[in-house]
Amino acid sequence: MPDPTYDQLIARLKRIDVFRSILGILHWDEQVNLPPDSADRRAQQLQELASVHHAAAADPEIGRLLSVLESRDLPPGSDADVVVRHARRDFDRASRLPEDFVREKAALDSAAFHAWARARKNSDFPAFAPFLERQIVMARREAEFMGWGDRPYDYSIDLHDPGLDTAFIAPLFASLRRELPPLARRIAASRPATAPNMFRGFSIPAQREFIREALDRVGFNWNRGRLDTSLHPFCGGDALDTRLTTRFDENNPLDAIFSSIHEAGHALYEQGLPETDIGTPLGEAVGMAIHESQSRLWENQVGRSPQFWAFFEPRLRFHFGPQLTPISSAELLAAINDVRPGPIRVDADEVTYNLHILMRFDLEMALFEGRLSVADLPCEWNRLSEDLLGITPADDAHGVLQDVHWSSGSFGYFPSYALGNMIAAQLWYHALCELPGLPEDFARGQFSRLLAWLRDKVHRRGKRLDTQELIVAATGQPLGTSALLRHLSERYLTNA
Ligand code: ZN
Repeated sequence: MPDPTYDQLIARLKRIDVFRSILGILHWDEQVNLPPDSADRRAQQLQELASVHHAAAADPEIGRLLSVLESRDLPPGSDADVVVRHARRDFDRASRLPEDFVREKAALDSAAFHAWARARKNSDFPAFAPFLERQIVMARREAEFMGWGDRPYDYSIDLHDPGLDTAFIAPLFASLRRELPPLARRIAASRPATAPNMFRGFSIPAQREFIREALDRVGFNWNRGRLDTSLHPFCGGDALDTRLTTRFDENNPLDAIFSSIHEAGHALYEQGLPETDIGTPLGEAVGMAIHESQSRLWENQVGRSPQFWAFFEPRLRFHFGPQLTPISSAELLAAINDVRPGPIRVDADEVTYNLHILMRFDLEMALFEGRLSVADLPCEWNRLSEDLLGITPADDAHGVLQDVHWSSGSFGYFPSYALGNMIAAQLWYHALCELPGLPEDFARGQFSRLLAWLRDKVHRRGKRLDTQELIVAATGQPLGTSALLRHLSERYLTNA
């Protein structure tokens, strides 16, 4: 039955989403194309557009439409109920933040990003520290506006993963903190170290070609997406125009290959959201932990499997014959599955990666609880790094300045990565049960059964289920650490 009130709400939500998507493209362009001295101009553009976006999202008419719909006792779990609940959450968030706050935040994000990029280049933490301090103040102020003044860090987590908080995450991470360091040591001790510098002279155009083939095979839609280069790989844009980025190193082709597969995992999720619902909660990802589970599943469970490389190794040798001649199949697979603690999160293997996240979770909690000052952050970073990874970074560029997240005030985001790893492993074992012979598909270059399964269990649902409900619905169990620990043991210890 047609419902003009509901239709008006949907039309408004879709309009807001168009503004959001333009902001996304401006951010993408800032990191991919922007000339070095044009940052101020971009800051102005972002500030103006953020204010247009904010005005649309906080329009009182949306509040009125929501109140009418809320008075109708919509059946819980119905599409209209899902839309109204999430639209209410977004509207309250937008309408409670004063416009001058939103403008100030947009300007700070842009300035802080450029300050971070410079500080990282020069390994100069004190140059970035004032921007980080301001971002923490802004995050606290935002939490206060939203009625979370007593739990600002939980507010930050909830922003990325609605319904999750430190009380849910801390016990899971405590379990990882007990189990992972000894497991990582056992794995490292059981494997010979791979030769350093074994890859030399892998031309960037050929790397691009290989990545294009791999992304084609897993199902990335190039008619609605592209792959470019940026300092820090990311997946931007949206379902209808997906912007992947990577970075290339002639002497480390695996970096571009795996970061591209990772970002393509995000893209496959976006591109699998129901198209007619794009711009509404029914066509939106659940949250970042589920998003990361998709990127991680494609990167690790699929992309680092021997079956994946049974198919793709000949393709890699086709593109890089002379460079790969001295490298045997076994050496290539060992390099792909190398486990060794290092200082850089994005270069970390799938075992020690989680330790990087545990560090950042501890540091963010300490910063927000006032137990740690920004000035003491590099020192505490290095202490935790030594404690968990056995490594003290050579300098702040390889330590506290390595990640882009804090420059944009994205606190509470890091936990999503480790949660994503746990969810990926749990989804993977369930997919293996339901889809016999799945790894053998990969050896034939076939990924469509897995993609269809993920489309059905995760992508097409939009926000109909929250993070914890979706995990139970898709895997039959609440989230735990056992699937991840099993995956790591089976992959790295079984045949050691
Ligand atoms: Zn990711």
